[in-house]
Amino acid sequence: MKQLTDLTFDNRFARLGDGFSTAVMPKPIAEPRLVIASPAAMALLDLDPAQAQSPVFAELFAGHKLWSTAQSRAMVYSGHQFGQYNPQLGDGRGLLLGEVVNDAGEYWDLHLKGAGQTPYSRSADGRAVLRSSIREFLASEYLHALGIPTSRALCVTASSTPVWREKQEKAAMLLRLAPSHVRFGHFEYFYYTRQHDQLKILLEHVLSCHFPETLQQPEPYAAFFRTVVERNAGMIARWQAYGFCHGVMNTDNMSILGITFDFGPYAFLDDFDEKHICNHSDDSGRYSFSNQVPIAHWNLAALAQALTPFVAAEQLRESLDLFLPLYQAHYLDLMRRRLGLDSAADNDQQLIERLLQLMQGSAVDYSLFFRRLGELPAEQAVARLRDEFIDLAGFDRWAHDYCSRSAMDKRSQAERQQHMHAVNPLYLLRNYLAQQAIEAAEAGDYTAVRKLHAVLSQPFVEQPGQQRYAERPPQWGKHLEISCSS
Ligand code: AMP
Ligand code: MG
Repeated sequence: MKQLTDLTFDNRFARLGDGFSTAVMPKPIAEPRLVIASPAAMALLDLDPAQAQSPVFAELFAGHKLWSTAQSRAMVYSGHQFGQYNPQLGDGRGLLLGEVVNDAGEYWDLHLKGAGQTPYSRSADGRAVLRSSIREFLASEYLHALGIPTSRALCVTASSTPVWREKQEKAAMLLRLAPSHVRFGHFEYFYYTRQHDQLKILLEHVLSCHFPETLQQPEPYAAFFRTVVERNAGMIARWQAYGFCHGVMNTDNMSILGITFDFGPYAFLDDFDEKHICNHSDDSGRYSFSNQVPIAHWNLAALAQALTPFVAAEQLRESLDLFLPLYQAHYLDLMRRRLGLDSAADNDQQLIERLLQLMQGSAVDYSLFFRRLGELPAEQAVARLRDEFIDLAGFDRWAHDYCSRSAMDKRSQAERQQHMHAVNPLYLLRNYLAQQAIEAAEAGDYTAVRKLHAVLSQPFVEQPGQQRYAERPPQWGKHLEISCSS
């Protein structure tokens, strides 16, 4: 276990030079107070969890201090936002403090979000508010606990520094961890500014640091793109299987690593609704729940365009064509497991689609449905869940087919339950739970945030006395409008 002062830095991205990022020091926020730290994320840096209590922890992650071996940089990138190319993006409020190498030799970017203005801030203040910092913290650590690839969050620090959004709020900082902060938009930036030499340097950097296996391939750049497609197919399948709605799938928010990145007005589905739009400024529903699949494909095509100087169009096309079948195979596999089906049968896809159609418009709690389906033998479970559906005749037909299908897998109920509970969370990060914790935190009480994070860090394991976190949301809780400002 290490002390904070013992971290080892090796700043590979910073060494790419000023064409890729600009040196900027964090601008501290006043009277820093630690809101929450993630012991699991601290472990990634070999940090003793007790270090979070030291005053220097809050100071470091509120921009008051910096390791002498860190090199704080704002990265330049561009990207497609809601389908339109925006040539001027970049780290407007976050800084890459440096790359920490842990004892296992793994690299972790330390990225401080809300660290003040940079050359890429445009007219904005470079800050992040407490509510959005807490939301990103909770989501990153929860998605990880669910087994969904994601950036991580080390901690959130609150302050007395005022910031203006719809009203006056307080600035906070979030320390994000990821093996890389390179986005699709980084490649687009060099492509659209016709800096093909820099584009090649970026490619070489990303391949050697993050995709070393592709260097063994006859055509490493083509292999790299294929890997990005594969990883995205796996990530999106998990989002869809678990009802995660990202909300702002702009190409500047898409990680090159295929991890969930840049959390805004995200939401997990309460009632199943394939048309759900969690981003209230998304008028056309471009980033609605079911659109996440075609949009991921669209985003990959935008990345492919930026790689055309170095990879033949036919190869890019071939890899793009892999996305949908790969996505479908992952999704089918996950959903089978969520339904407790141990083997594969021909009509499984149909069985899943029929279930979702019945859920649509029936106000069935998407997450709890699967958990409850595993609690009892199939016949008893469907009988208990029947009342939740509006189309009872349709549900009875589905339940009949599901029970016969389920009986094909010869397993005891104990075994079936064990397998199902291992993939079906009892505790879901619901908007209203996050909102209650945020309101307490805004009033200076961090116990609710910490409690919520602790329960959600083991979402599959029933925790005595925590029933409140496993309940269906109240009506008001289902229709919260989460502010898109952050
Ligand atoms: P986002 O919507 O958070 O993904 O951000 C889109 C772009 O706006 C990125 O280039 C951000 O760095 C920038 N940005 C967002 N909020 C701020 C802010 N408060 N100050 C400066 N730049 C910001
Ligand atoms: Mg962003």
